[in-house]
Amino acid sequence: MALPMEVRSIVHDVLSERLSAVVDNRFDAGEFRLSESAKCGRYRVAKVLGMVKEEHDEVDAGYFERGHLIERWVVEGFRRKFPRRCRTQQTVKTPFGDTGHIDLWFPAERRIIEVKSVSDREQDLPRPEHVMQVQAYMHFLRNARGERRADSSELVYVRYGRQLSYEVHIVPYDEAVGQAIEDELRMLHEYAERYELPPIPSGYDPMSPPCMTYYGRAERCPLWSVCWKGSDRAPKLDAPEVADWVRDLAMLDAEKKALKAQEKTLEEAMKDIQAKLGALLDIYGVKQVSADGVTVTRTVVTPKPKFDMEAALADGALPTDVVERYQKVPKPYETWYVKRPKGQKEDAE
Ligand code: SF4
Repeated sequence: MALPMEVRSIVHDVLSERLSAVVDNRFDAGEFRLSESAKCGRYRVAKVLGMVKEEHDEVDAGYFERGHLIERWVVEGFRRKFPRRCRTQQTVKTPFGDTGHIDLWFPAERRIIEVKSVSDREQDLPRPEHVMQVQAYMHFLRNARGERRADSSELVYVRYGRQLSYEVHIVPYDEAVGQAIEDELRMLHEYAERYELPPIPSGYDPMSPPCMTYYGRAERCPLWSVCWKGSDRAPKLDAPEVADWVRDLAMLDAEKKALKAQEKTLEEAMKDIQAKLGALLDIYGVKQVSADGVTVTRTVVTPKPKFDMEAALADGALPTDVVERYQKVPKPYETWYVKRPKGQKEDAE
């Protein structure tokens, strides 16, 4: 049921709608995007064929929208300063029907400007995928006679964080790279027309980027199972590197257990002291006690009441169909158990 207007936030409605629209409208998966020129060709064909769908949530929407706002901020600055010298959102077309949109283009200077927003912690700029993107733009931006119309690009990275700062990287057009992008795009179109995936590129392996990436946690490419399940290009289960991983995991597991045992001993020792200090705080009716500049404060936390849903359901106190509407199905997760030979286990722990 919608809340009455007086207790609803006007801002919330507008902004949450806007973020949902960003997620819904951002991608046309039906064509090859020039901004993905550095991505795995097999993945790009799978996306065009609708075999994989990129899932985007509100966090992604916020990320895209932030990039969009920063890009607009930079582009507006140029538009005001050089109203007749630059074109914004210049369309670039490939001979195969794909389109891209260049943030800024200075025709007289034959220069493209592409704006990116990155966190102030980001190292190693420019990113290779952005270099490939502007190479693709410079290669395909041509006049009616087929002559190229840009010789260099500026990749502008606006860093967000505690301060707004920027850095610029100049990328000259590289004919060999441009031609390779065009050749690959032609080949990808041919595969897509045959409804066929290109082979896995040589040098790729199932445990390394781009098939598996490691930003904070390991994540598999959405096509990973199609590419690698049952593949004879993966290391064999008895390969030496697999034995190394098993050994390393067992060692880390033993270390973790040793730390946990230590943590338990420390907690027990702390509890003994807390019992004595707690008794004193009760005697004097105070919350804290200090010594040597250190203050120890006790807070009594009253937990929220818990509902025993299973008992309520068993007693028929709640209709199952009502409960099901509020049920969240958890995602499957993995548990791991490391079993060592007996003697080794005792040594490790
Ligand atoms: S799993 Fe690897 S080879 Fe397969 S589509 Fe993804 S990136 Fe390409």
